[in-house]
Amino acid sequence: MKENIRFINTFCLVYVIYISTLFRRQLLSIRFCPGFKQYDMECESHLKCNAAEKTLFIVNGYTIKECSQCGHRYTKIDDLKNHLIEVYSDEYFFEGKAGYPDYLAEKELLIKAGNRYAKIISNYMTPGKLLDVGCAAGFIMKGFEDKGWECEGIEPNLTMVSYGRNVMNMNIFSGSLEEYKYTSKYDLICLIEVIGHFYDLKKATLNILNLLNDDGYVLVESWNMKSFAAKVLGKRWHEYSPPSVLNWFSDNTLTHLFENIGLKMVAKGYPQKKINMEHALSLLEEKLPEFGFKKKLFKITSALAGRLTVIYPLHDLNWYLFKKTPSGITA
Ligand SMILES: [Zn+2]
Repeated sequence: MKENIRFINTFCLVYVIYISTLFRRQLLSIRFCPGFKQYDMECESHLKCNAAEKTLFIVNGYTIKECSQCGHRYTKIDDLKNHLIEVYSDEYFFEGKAGYPDYLAEKELLIKAGNRYAKIISNYMTPGKLLDVGCAAGFIMKGFEDKGWECEGIEPNLTMVSYGRNVMNMNIFSGSLEEYKYTSKYDLICLIEVIGHFYDLKKATLNILNLLNDDGYVLVESWNMKSFAAKVLGKRWHEYSPPSVLNWFSDNTLTHLFENIGLKMVAKGYPQKKINMEHALSLLEEKLPEFGFKKKLFKITSALAGRLTVIYPLHDLNWYLFKKTPSGITA
């Protein structure tokens, strides 16, 4: 009998501690992260939680920080004026490293990726007007257009804009979302591997909100900084590649970012991403430490297998679909 009472007492004590921990966490999230409730209170490049920032590590000379309240990771750049021209030069699309060894070589793969996303989206809405942010040469838009969407894009690189307009016959604005002067609204805005690249996250997300029709959707494909691959690789994770990438997200921080401006997540999943070996090898070469025959090894491997298509193996990329709600802020 005594043993039973002792067991019940211990159980109650553990239960009380568990419940208080949960309750405390809930209180902390409300009390210390006002940025989620009031958009104007941002941490450095995101939600301004008035929190101390933690320095995580330095990559390419850029300090990657984490807001100790909301967990958002970011870095800052000094030269905003030349940022787009310098980062999204032709080198980014044709010379590998953190960019692409040959972006145009992935044309068919990207059109099919657009087809796949259009099929997923068809479960939620009928085709309408779409804006693809960071559309490059318009390949993903082409995949949507095939399925009945009316598409427009935004792209900073002039070579890509020119190819998209002249070869793909797409309507593309040259520049960034942050500086986009919009004249119309959209039913769907696509941010395919682009949200980490915004140099002004607040301006970009507010523009998204204002560009969306009521009941509009945002499709986001984004790298997950809390994925197994990202945790294991640490600072060598391929997405820690400033200055092209400036913000890093997890499921939670991305969801909070959109909830904060009045969009709710309605679906998420893993994209069936396919890339050619040349691109995969280029990312790997960029992140591996130097060794004697590294350049030669990658050159030979790329020559032998560069055109092969592989399914991207790391589970560190997700897609999310957000829907605008009546509480969405409009500026
Ligand atoms: Zn924060």
